[in-house]
Amino acid sequence: MIDWKKEAEKYKDDYLSDLKALVAIDSARDVEHATDEFPLGPGPAKALNQFLEFGNRDGFTTHNIDNIVGYIEYGTGEDYFAVLGHADTVPAGKGWDTNPFELTEKDGKVFGRGTSDDKGPALAAYYGLKMLKDNGIMPNLKIRLVIGTDEETNWTCMKRYFEVEPAPKIGFSPDAEFPLINGEKGNVTFETKFAGSDKEGENTLLSFKSGLKENMVPREAEVEIKTDDADFISTKFEEYLLDVPVTGDYENTPEGIKLEMIGKAAHGMEPKNGINAGTYMATFLKQFNFDEAGKNFIAFIADKLHDDSRAVNLGLQFTDDIMGDLTMNVGIMDYTQADGGMVNTNFRYPKGIEPAKIDEQLKNNAAYYGGSVEMDPDFMVPHFVDPSDPLVTTLMDIYKEQTGQEGAEPEIVGGGTYARMMKRGVAFGALFPGAEDTMHQANESQRVSDLLLAMSIYGQSLYNLTK
Ligand code: ZN
Ligand code: ZN
Repeated sequence: MIDWKKEAEKYKDDYLSDLKALVAIDSARDVEHATDEFPLGPGPAKALNQFLEFGNRDGFTTHNIDNIVGYIEYGTGEDYFAVLGHADTVPAGKGWDTNPFELTEKDGKVFGRGTSDDKGPALAAYYGLKMLKDNGIMPNLKIRLVIGTDEETNWTCMKRYFEVEPAPKIGFSPDAEFPLINGEKGNVTFETKFAGSDKEGENTLLSFKSGLKENMVPREAEVEIKTDDADFISTKFEEYLLDVPVTGDYENTPEGIKLEMIGKAAHGMEPKNGINAGTYMATFLKQFNFDEAGKNFIAFIADKLHDDSRAVNLGLQFTDDIMGDLTMNVGIMDYTQADGGMVNTNFRYPKGIEPAKIDEQLKNNAAYYGGSVEMDPDFMVPHFVDPSDPLVTTLMDIYKEQTGQEGAEPEIVGGGTYARMMKRGVAFGALFPGAEDTMHQANESQRVSDLLLAMSIYGQSLYNLTK
């Protein structure tokens, strides 16, 4: 019998050196530099090819599909057990203490963009597979590690994969947390748009910028205001900052004043873990007299979206007994006087409520401020695998055995992972209970010992589920 933990320990140096190579590649979606060869930009493809090169080096069969998705395969046969991970990341963003693209080991952790989402965990799963091969174990069910490169945005990678490859019926995605996620909320995004204007007010909102992505809580907000009252605004700004959990700075400009706020980024599936600099900025600005277009944009955010992750002010508060709360993240706020504004809101919803209902409430509320709402037609419905399914019980047993956490139970979350693409698909790791969740944040990191334990759990899981 294989001692999985001991095996994982042997791979530590090789694993970290491969992770270093992956982290060194900036693989955030970069469609500005897209070409026919690199549909999502060169970075994501480069990270995918790095993964596939590891597979080739170690003697696996690999396949690259259009430089947006690929797989590493072991075993033979028609059906297969799938492990779905991703090589793209969210943008590095600001606020790092180390270079986000240089794997840095400190205090037993490795720091770098992708160490916990999802380069570190996907690579741990790869090493789990490698463990089987290196021990001469040939699975009775083929195993495929599928690597996507557009998980953080549109999933064009897995959609393409499902078009050209036989769909996996069973598998897990190492792209969330342990012990195991057997249910995922639905996920739908809206853009509320506001017209621009050339009319000026006592104060005129020239620009408002906050947020990078729908699934991140914005860390920064920056506004430019045309005003004759810069001193009054800056005094009020300093007062406001004393009472709120954001920091800020201001600068006088030829037109008036520029303000900046800094909150805390977090994953959009639980906005309570972050501090939204954009909605705090709007809430501060609401006390001043602005031009009408600027005023509407500010007031919509301040009145209807600020500090309201359960969307109570939109009339959308909803909880399902099994799947939990509907949540809302205000991911992007973008405005210029000439072109108008856009507010991107992303909702995670349990079974029992439909996207059409969210659309309706958002429209009803935005109309008062002159906003028009568009729903992204590419939404995801809630996903649920019965906790008595042998996939769930097998993985839970291995998790309990290796961690000693006898009381562990499967969970339902707001994050959408690739698991939902498989009828019998669950998310499995690699963030352990109690470990700090730094996904999508500055200083993203993971404990090295946790990554090795994940590797060991993945090795045994792949073995037990395919023997
Ligand atoms: Zn991920
Ligand atoms: Zn992510």
